[in-house]
Amino acid sequence: DKDRGFRNYFWKATPVPGAAAEMDKINFNDRVAVITGAGGGLGRTYALELASRGCKVVVNDLGGARDGSGGGSASPADNVVEEIKKMGGEAVANYDNVATPEGGAAIIQSAIDAFGRIDIVINNAGILRDKSFLKMEPENWNAVMAVHLHGAYNVTKPAFSIMKQQGFGRIIMTTSAAGLYGNFGQTNYSAAKMALVGFMNTLKLEGAKYNIKVNTVAPLAASRLTEDIMPPEIFAKMKPEFVSPMVLYLASEDCKESGQIFNAGMGYFNRAAVMTGPSVQLGEGDTPPTLEDIADNWEAINSMEGAKELNDLNTAMFDMLSPPAPAAEAA
Ligand code: NAD
Repeated sequence: DKDRGFRNYFWKATPVPGAAAEMDKINFNDRVAVITGAGGGLGRTYALELASRGCKVVVNDLGGARDGSGGGSASPADNVVEEIKKMGGEAVANYDNVATPEGGAAIIQSAIDAFGRIDIVINNAGILRDKSFLKMEPENWNAVMAVHLHGAYNVTKPAFSIMKQQGFGRIIMTTSAAGLYGNFGQTNYSAAKMALVGFMNTLKLEGAKYNIKVNTVAPLAASRLTEDIMPPEIFAKMKPEFVSPMVLYLASEDCKESGQIFNAGMGYFNRAAVMTGPSVQLGEGDTPPTLEDIADNWEAINSMEGAKELNDLNTAMFDMLSPPAPAAEAA
């Protein structure tokens, strides 16, 4: 049919296996999760699905508009808590603002107060302030940084301290294709979303010894953030439920990955990564190369043939200190 044609054309959809047998189901019994911005959209779905698998959930949402204005509305978080309780799950609402350190501390404290621990943090709260670059005023730039980037720092820091003590933690950052690949009119959002990848890259190292796994999801789903960007027929297919299984996997004990980025949407999943090309050594390291050396060796410098992933800065340094033999003199 038409939709399948569309999906196969772009994404080579593979069939999804059937539901797992009841006993094989991954559960979150005795785990406690904080999900920021869980009063609607993707966060709400994560909260409902975690709760349906035994997780105790803090539903954080300050209830603002899509651009972050307004706020102070308890109802979105309360409604999700109500939904969870109706299906027999455990949840509390929290209305604090992720954009301040006090807000972040209060959000994690509400997990401790209600459930006595914190195992999972899903940094999901988000706003949009799209403008083409020359119209991007500081208030739009800063507001987006404050919620996405500073918000993840404010909430993750108090949680990380507890996770380190208990020797378990699952932290999920939310990036976006806009940050990974670029999107017109979103310099602020793209910068904040890609900054979360850098945040993860280092936090994965600091958490490794304590079984704290830090991963990043790049979702694509129908929500108020995307309702005017996607054609209506595609929008109808972009249910958050197609993203949440990936996020729940990254939040589970089963997840052994750390420091990875996964795209998820409409049943399409893959990993994205920063790749480093094969490298070329210009000269023996005694004389600095010239601008002409760069120009003459551009093809080799620019090559991504056999590109690889580097786990940390030290690996990158080691790579630089043991480069391939110097390139042959340019003709
Ligand atoms: P959404 O607007 O439905 O959800 C975001 C929620 O965050 C809202 O309920 C909002 O009230 C809350 N929020 C905003 N500022 C907050 C703050 N300061 N403190 C606490 N809560 C706050 O949108 P969504 O599409 O579900 O987005 C969820 C996340 O996924 C965002 O980080 C977004 O950037 C990201 N994302 C979404 C898509 C997509 O296709 N929907 C694509 C890429 C990335």
